[in-house]
Amino acid sequence: MTLATNLGFPRIGARRELKEAVEAYWRGGLEPAELEIRAAEIRKRNWLLQRDEGLDQVSCGDFSLYDHVLDTAVMLGAVPSRYGWKAETVDLDTYFAMARGRAGNGRGAVPAMEMTKWFDTNYHFIVPEFEPDQRFRLASTKVVDEFAEARALGLDARPVLLGPVSFLLLGKSVENGPRPFSLLDGVLPVYEEVLRRLRAAGARWVQVDEPCLGLDLPDEAGAAYGRAYRRLSETAPDLNLLVASYFSELRENLETALALPVAGLHLDLTRGREDLRRIRGRVPDHLTLSMGVVDGRNVWRTDLAAALEILEPVMDELGGGRVMVAPSCSLLHTPVDLDLEKDLDSELRSWMAFARQKVGEVATLARALDGGREAVGDVLAENARAMEARAASERIHDPRVKERAGAVDEDLLRRARPYTERAPLQHAALGLPPLPTTTVGSFPQTSEIRRTRAAHRRGELGDEPYEAFLRGQVDEVVRFQEETGFDVLVHGEPERSDMVEYFAEQLHGFLATTNGWVQSYGSRCVKPPVILGDVRRPQPMSVELTSYAQSLTDRPVKGMLTGPVTMVQWSFVRDDQPRSETARQVALAIRDEVCDLEAAGLRAVQVDEPAFREGMPLRRADRDVYLRWAVEAFRIASSGVRDDTQIHTHMCYSEFNEILDTIAELDADVISLEASRSRMELLGAFAQFEYPSEVGPGVYDIHSPRIPPVDEMEDLILRAARAVPLERLWVNPDCGLKTRKWEEVRPALRNLVKAARRARKRLEAEKM
Ligand code: GLN
Ligand code: ZN
Repeated sequence: MTLATNLGFPRIGARRELKEAVEAYWRGGLEPAELEIRAAEIRKRNWLLQRDEGLDQVSCGDFSLYDHVLDTAVMLGAVPSRYGWKAETVDLDTYFAMARGRAGNGRGAVPAMEMTKWFDTNYHFIVPEFEPDQRFRLASTKVVDEFAEARALGLDARPVLLGPVSFLLLGKSVENGPRPFSLLDGVLPVYEEVLRRLRAAGARWVQVDEPCLGLDLPDEAGAAYGRAYRRLSETAPDLNLLVASYFSELRENLETALALPVAGLHLDLTRGREDLRRIRGRVPDHLTLSMGVVDGRNVWRTDLAAALEILEPVMDELGGGRVMVAPSCSLLHTPVDLDLEKDLDSELRSWMAFARQKVGEVATLARALDGGREAVGDVLAENARAMEARAASERIHDPRVKERAGAVDEDLLRRARPYTERAPLQHAALGLPPLPTTTVGSFPQTSEIRRTRAAHRRGELGDEPYEAFLRGQVDEVVRFQEETGFDVLVHGEPERSDMVEYFAEQLHGFLATTNGWVQSYGSRCVKPPVILGDVRRPQPMSVELTSYAQSLTDRPVKGMLTGPVTMVQWSFVRDDQPRSETARQVALAIRDEVCDLEAAGLRAVQVDEPAFREGMPLRRADRDVYLRWAVEAFRIASSGVRDDTQIHTHMCYSEFNEILDTIAELDADVISLEASRSRMELLGAFAQFEYPSEVGPGVYDIHSPRIPPVDEMEDLILRAARAVPLERLWVNPDCGLKTRKWEEVRPALRNLVKAARRARKRLEAEKM
């Protein structure tokens, strides 16, 4: 029999029950035991729901109160010493302290562990930390306990572990700490112990995730993989280990994977079709293949016939006992249940699948392999009809959009003159002093703003009073900036709860879900819009409020838009055309908005691309292709303006060195970036590369409630001035101010302007 399996299921609960429970616990409103009970209820619901969809084997141990990488660190007893942990097992408070830090003034306060993106997803994990003399020991039996829990419900469950090699590769060593592979012998005994216990508890399969197998790996990695899995498979000879890699093709690591002495190998066949072609005809006899044909990274229904075309030949070759059907990766990255989308009409619904529906697809495919396509003939027929309808639907295919995107040529990608000739025109038009000051866009989103926006959304507040309210907010923000002495003003973004959602709601081709939450980190969930069809802008989106802001002042106001790469990166993207094509359509829509802002009298427009870097493919070899279309999309969006209109962009992270030349190719006139935390370190690279246009390295760390004093910011500006010529240097915060309070922002921005003025004086005096 062919097993219908899963690699992992969203843990947040269909109605974000986990968020509610965990946050209640943090507030002190739940006892530890109560939190455990609520968590167990969510696990149970998830398992039964998957069983009811027809899954033969559910995953367990993939559930987490915060993050599964943190859970793995805790299982291994890798608790950094600053948490003062000495007990036998890791208690909840230590666990959450690792995730979120411990508050307390002065002595009691302990910072959280670092968090970073999980491969190329928008999920964030807690980065394991290794100290000198790092020791490991079993400090949590969570995975074993959850296995027992599933068993007690009568389920065939497959425990999931993050594998030892990926775990070590994802971690970081503190200064003078050990190199990752030197720790392998330390972690393996703990893994062995866990496997023994799982075996004793009755487990037959254990899924060991090794997503790093899909990355460009250092040379020692192959040997580490071999050594690790030889030992693990010897520990529990009658336990079947399934090594799972996903998100990327195995490519040169395929031989390493095939040589592992394990019972099963999972392939992400939405991203690694070539791997499959390469192993056909030579799959070792002992190996079961888990075929990840259902895309775990999007919200689209699987084309079941196409999936069967992939599965059936493998089935013929290996036989049913050696094939498992699975999603491409854990379903953690999809929303839970499409059935909760009450507003969705039946046609759109028939094209989509969330985690629950994807589990159902896995089951259908397994039944079709065992019983032949006839066994699920009705489902296949209905699926084929939906696929055909989607491919032809006028709701999502717009010949005008396709034609316009197809006609993009060099002219659409270029400003008339190069930056060096544009700059003097812009500086004259904007009347800018040296070291001009500006902000990145948003101002504090007060509870009043949130409340009013929500009331308008619910229909309790009409359009007119809402718009009047927004104008009032803009009045305040503009007045503050004028009084404080900013040179380029913004309107403050009070109308936007989210920079992608705001535009997605106004563009054709995007769809907002009501309940399509996915976990971003810990209890934080996001609801990415869905790009379902050809994208076009039915009417201007931001022109009214931005030009209102400009009408209030003689100083230049900068229009504020979200760039095409970020729009695509933070949405669920359609799967029926290349991402590059979708980005191009979005870019054309943004281009029209940029031009309309200019026509309305705005002399500067910022096109934010905070997701530009995270869109980079995991493999170095794939990066150029991405960077080419990403640059193209940005340039389409931003190059429709006159030469005296200044184009800004913003990116909020500091690891630019690798892609500085690409950032230069964007041909933006000004880029603002995060720099205050790294004390301007990134500027060395800017200087060395001789970045051609203007830069505003952030001098105010907006991720902290701290108000930076004038001296400190002046010092940062002076440092920056050593790397960037004075004529090309701007002064601004690291990012938007929306998460900060006015009490912090007011003094911090006053200090910022003062610091810029002092630095101006000092640098000009030096020049004379
Ligand atoms: N303009 C946006 C803001 O200020 C930029 C946000 C971001 O970079 N993530 O909020
Ligand atoms: Zn930012």
